[in-house]
Amino acid sequence: MAPSATTPAAAASNGTNGTNGATKVAAPAQLDASKLTIERTKSPRPVPSLETANSGPETICTDHMVTATWTASAGWAAPRLHPYGPISLMPTASVLHYATECFEGLKAYRGYDGKLRLFRPDRNAERMVLSSTRISLPSFPPAELEKLMISLLSVDGARWIPRSRPGTFLYLRPTMIGTQPQLGVQASSEAMLYIIATYMPVLHSPAGGMHLRTSPGNMVRAWAGGFGFAKVGANYGPSLLATADARKDGFHQILWLYGDEGLCTEAGASNFFVVWKDKETGRTQLVTAPLDDMIILNGVTRRSVIDLVKERCPELEIVERRYTIQEVGDAYEEGRLVESFAAGTAYFICPISLIHHRGKDISAPMGDGEGGEYTLKIRTWLMDIMYGRVDNDWAVVIPEEE
Ligand SMILES: *Cc1c(COP(=O)(O)O)cnc(C)c1O
Repeated sequence: MAPSATTPAAAASNGTNGTNGATKVAAPAQLDASKLTIERTKSPRPVPSLETANSGPETICTDHMVTATWTASAGWAAPRLHPYGPISLMPTASVLHYATECFEGLKAYRGYDGKLRLFRPDRNAERMVLSSTRISLPSFPPAELEKLMISLLSVDGARWIPRSRPGTFLYLRPTMIGTQPQLGVQASSEAMLYIIATYMPVLHSPAGGMHLRTSPGNMVRAWAGGFGFAKVGANYGPSLLATADARKDGFHQILWLYGDEGLCTEAGASNFFVVWKDKETGRTQLVTAPLDDMIILNGVTRRSVIDLVKERCPELEIVERRYTIQEVGDAYEEGRLVESFAAGTAYFICPISLIHHRGKDISAPMGDGEGGEYTLKIRTWLMDIMYGRVDNDWAVVIPEEE
């Protein structure tokens, strides 16, 4: 009898074709970027000006996308690079009913030296496997996803983020969906992985800093035993209501609290940091929520902030622990709150000037108005790496077609 895999994830992680025994059915194929086929568009679209790129209601994508399909029995088909356009799904597709969807988000930065770079794409690729397997979508070798992202940028980079636009970025959105057209509540036996490259507005510096409001008492973003650590679409749809309400009242994002004690978790879809002077020791600390509760996302930006501060800023003590909004409020009232910022690919390092909690305002100092001293220092360190002002292993240079 042919070996039958128990789950799609197990089937996909099975590796290459088995060789022991002639009667065995070939194991499902792995995702293999070296099999990529390329079909170029015959009608390249006009590249928008930077002023208009983000002004319309639709996200503008580049000329091409990468797609790879998977089935539980055959594994991954050869990935294809082809013209950007709509995808076709049956109305019964798993993703449309059971939220079998996950995604990644990372930017490609046009450096001041003319080179195009990705920032730690290996981290995003690894996290995508964490997310896909959490919702019973297939696994894959992360390095193959990284190669596919690089292939797309090699083809579309030169035209869509030209060398004449140093200091700008494109946004990559790898996505995986369950496509099996059957309504049974079960792991999808078919999936599609695709990668698109888009424009996205610069979000990291609202004038006067970001204003947050804490989440309403009857809502949580993620919970212990849930899936807040995974970048699955199911985490975001239900968060939009609180965000829309907060926007109506003039706030930019929600500060998501957790539990009766009001633990600080994330700011919108970004990790949340405060700098304060510790009540007991008086030491200046960079404080953020821990990963081991598995309710926050393991942000690449978060990790990079921590790594850089550890290396370059010994006077700042790094503290990854549970902490409450009450502690932040106390630090403010006692004059110990130094600054606060959100960290993520979309909002980058975004200074926070105000947190509104249950009728009270917590103001975070903004230095000379643009952001706190540590916030701006960390932002500059990261930008220097992303835009090639300094050499760093975290930045991966894309080989581009001319
Ligand atoms: C994507 C995301 C982040 C930021 O992660 P980065 O890897 O830094 O972009 C933080 N929180 C949530 C909920 C996210 O979805």
